[in-house]
Amino acid sequence: MRALRLPAWKTEPELVEVDEPTPGTGQVVVKIGGAGACHSDLHLMHDFEAGAVPWNPPFTLGHENAGWVHTIGAGVTGLEVGQPVAVYGPWGCGVCARCRVGADNYCENPAAAPVPGGGGGLGLDGGMAAYLLVPAARHLVPLPEGLDPVAAAPLTDAGLTPYHAIRRSWSKLPPGSTAVVIGVGGLGHLGVQILKATTAARIIAVDNRDEALRLAEEYGADLTLRSGERTAEEIRAATGGRGADLVLDFVGVDATLRTGAAAARTLGDLTIVGIGGGSLSVGFFSVPYEVSIQTTYWGTRPELVEVLDLGARGLLRPKTTTFTLDNAMDAYHRLQDGTLEGRAVIVP
Ligand SMILES: [Zn+2]
Ligand SMILES: [Zn+2]
Repeated sequence: MRALRLPAWKTEPELVEVDEPTPGTGQVVVKIGGAGACHSDLHLMHDFEAGAVPWNPPFTLGHENAGWVHTIGAGVTGLEVGQPVAVYGPWGCGVCARCRVGADNYCENPAAAPVPGGGGGLGLDGGMAAYLLVPAARHLVPLPEGLDPVAAAPLTDAGLTPYHAIRRSWSKLPPGSTAVVIGVGGLGHLGVQILKATTAARIIAVDNRDEALRLAEEYGADLTLRSGERTAEEIRAATGGRGADLVLDFVGVDATLRTGAAAARTLGDLTIVGIGGGSLSVGFFSVPYEVSIQTTYWGTRPELVEVLDLGARGLLRPKTTTFTLDNAMDAYHRLQDGTLEGRAVIVP
């Protein structure tokens, strides 16, 4: 089969011929119906070098995947060939305290995981190929009625990651609260919809592209702002001076972190999801009182079940543009240029 592989750090991926995988005991091979192209893949191609993460190329790209059960390894029960499934992406050890509650994303024994701190498309072969080897059946979540693999694929990361970041702040988002989404790309446009579907917060979307702001409005943002030097003041003005109960930074560069900290309300949350590599200086006088600042990484398996439910009920509609495996690099180039709306999904 053909696969889009990253041969080494700081290189362009290449489309090459590889063997079809066969499942060992407890494993499952999924026929890929959709594999999302994530902005973090651009960092894998251009920015990372040996030592940045605990794994290395070569591997097949594609860490947000959905499709159909293709072949089932010995000892796997409860799945049928042809059944549509989403693939939970972070693959932990399966037995530590975090993995036991479905939080493989925060596995505490990464040395015992299939690859430390990664998964398919992140150190191991991912879904930008006809077939994907999934090392443990627990990572497969059956697709609910009404959700096809092309729509489901982005939900496993671009949906799950903002869902996790928003869910942990639900208690701070009653009626009368405000949530700010900085960066309305692949994750942010789903973040707006998740806020709309699961909270009563007023939603302010911030981006430097008019198209992205138009998309945010379409998905339910109450106010959209062009990002700039005065964005934090504009958020304060729009919230009667109080600031935002939750700021979700899907970009994560110095400027957006500064905006987030300046726009947060006392007792609010500033949650850094984007891996833009920026930093923020935190001290007694630099942020409003009791603002909690955290990073999040991906989400949990139980949360993926909830995200897929939102998707099947039409409450979460990823905007997707499909590409063939042959055109996968076009998808990444458009992602890089900022000319892609929503999420690119590769359909091999
Ligand atoms: Zn991703
Ligand atoms: Zn674990």
